[in-house]
Amino acid sequence: MQNIISDLDQAHEHDPGKKRKLIGDRGDFFLNRMQGETGVNISACYQCERCTNACPVSHFMDIKPHQAIRYVQLGWREDLLKSSTIWICLSCEMCTTYCPNEVDVAEIIHHLRNMAVHSSITPKEKNLAVFHQTFLEVLRKYGRINEFRLMNAYYLKPDILHERIKNKTLKEDLLLGMTLLRKGRLKLFTPKSRAIKEIKKAYSQTRGEIV
Ligand code: SF4
Ligand code: SF4
Repeated sequence: MQNIISDLDQAHEHDPGKKRKLIGDRGDFFLNRMQGETGVNISACYQCERCTNACPVSHFMDIKPHQAIRYVQLGWREDLLKSSTIWICLSCEMCTTYCPNEVDVAEIIHHLRNMAVHSSITPKEKNLAVFHQTFLEVLRKYGRINEFRLMNAYYLKPDILHERIKNKTLKEDLLLGMTLLRKGRLKLFTPKSRAIKEIKKAYSQTRGEIV
């Protein structure tokens, strides 16, 4: 237990003035909701940290994967939706693979990311959040992802192109695109998926829209 408390203290190091809460505003309600919506037995986690040790990008996360699971158990919804973790996660599923209790950590983080998209909380990693949203928009429109189309749509989002020019990364992106094009790894055009109707329907259903 001491380890868990110490871990949670470390997770709050980025905000040292913050008082540690023992239970979230929503308490068990949030845990039950997450378990119901994902089908993952989050209560089974006993904080062994194997998920975090297996994660290739945990070093960059403000709340580590095992801590994220503990936060869900405690009902700390706001902290999770405000975290960088939900945007930095690569969905590689290494955490899920290494969990001895079959806790699908990747699915939990993916679910939190979708909750953040539909909430009014400002994302901590704005550009990653915009990219995620653009990815879903392109997928919904065409039923598949074409990298050229995706990057064009991303650059046209407010402030993105301006920022890439300002921090001098646009040139790198263009050079990479040209290299991929030359090697036949980038297609300028791909037709819509034949399953576009089913994909649009599935997308709408996950957002709770009437289809
Ligand atoms: S590996 Fe599984 S049991 Fe261990 S901390 Fe991560 S989620 Fe919990
Ligand atoms: S799915 Fe996300 S949290 Fe899990 S190991 Fe991969 S990057 Fe880390």
